Amino acid sequence: MTQPTLPFLPFSKPTIDEATIASVADVLRSGWITSGPKVQAFEKELSDYFDGRITRSFNSGTCTMEIALRIAGIGPGDEVITTPISWVATANVVIETGATPVFADIDPVTRNIDLDKLEAAITPRTKAVIPVYLSGLPVDMDRLYAIAAKHNLRVIEDAAQALGSSWKGKRIGSFGDFVSFSFQANKNITCSEGGCLVVNNADEARLAEKYRLQGVTRTGFDGLDVDVLGGKFNMTDVAAAIGLGQFAHIDAVTAKRRELARHYFACFGADFESRYGAQLPVADFDNSNWHMYQLVLPESTTRASFMEKMMALQIGIGYHYPPIHLLKLYRDRGFKEGMFPVAERVGRLIVSLPMFTAMSKEDVERAVDAVKSVLG
Ligand SMILES: *Cc1c(COP(=O)(O)O)cnc(C)c1O
Repeated sequence: MTQPTLPFLPFSKPTIDEATIASVADVLRSGWITSGPKVQAFEKELSDYFDGRITRSFNSGTCTMEIALRIAGIGPGDEVITTPISWVATANVVIETGATPVFADIDPVTRNIDLDKLEAAITPRTKAVIPVYLSGLPVDMDRLYAIAAKHNLRVIEDAAQALGSSWKGKRIGSFGDFVSFSFQANKNITCSEGGCLVVNNADEARLAEKYRLQGVTRTGFDGLDVDVLGGKFNMTDVAAAIGLGQFAHIDAVTAKRRELARHYFACFGADFESRYGAQLPVADFDNSNWHMYQLVLPESTTRASFMEKMMALQIGIGYHYPPIHLLKLYRDRGFKEGMFPVAERVGRLIVSLPMFTAMSKEDVERAVDAVKSVLG
């Protein structure tokens, strides 16, 4: 066996600049390390970015969605429709509130929830929908909000992967109902862990603040009371300092990822799909922030053997995501194989190729050469 000569190319890797590291050290030396001025500054920057919509920060992009559901008053007896192809958090938060998750199959091209199937899944108990923008590609936002208006549904956008994405020139987060983002380590912008929620008005912002800190209300100089059951979901100033340092690069990060995606398409070439039987992502350079570059492998291969061979070539491959309805917790709730055939096929064969800001064009070429040699 020959020794690999090139270093391992991971599928994702954060880039943290020295100024950010210095600002974290400043916070640690300041004597105030939990939620404070950095959190306020980060929320202000995010709100400005979302055209002035009120934005609150949290310690994950999971609790953001749970809190949005609680603000919307969703609970036992209610149904919430989402996609089976997402991180399990998207459906878990529905169960957390006592409501019932309902799935609608995905569109095989965009790999996002199929809006026709979403509309068909609406019942009198449906109270909300949680669309997910897989790899940063939004759904048809006009259609989504038309369906929501027609059926009087709240929308909690799981835009965890879509910071920097847009729709018809408007940033995701700058319009719509609740919009949730994640700053987990693999996301385009990270706080190590964290999230934010865009809300509609000051009342929702106030409730979001209560839910993120034990339901505490402050009345007067020394008054403290608790009137809703909140949790412990506040972001720290340490995380916010990382977020501020990262967020300064948001436009450059999105531009770089679009450039890498363009290079992926160029290297795969126009005949890749017909020659190898694999499916490339939608070639969108206006809306998507290219959080991931995902292929759906041909039926003739298995993901496990593909991943193993790519690993042997020193290329890291991610797997996003197993269909949620086939996870044991969900099978135990009555979901089974055959219910969402498109999601099941895509979920069985989807892989995420290396995609991160510090990647070079040569890295893209290495990854594409490896894919072609493994599938060829
Ligand atoms: C990352 C992610 C989440 C969860 O975010 P956390 O910050 O890890 O809680 C939810 N949904 C999607 C689609 C994600 O990619």
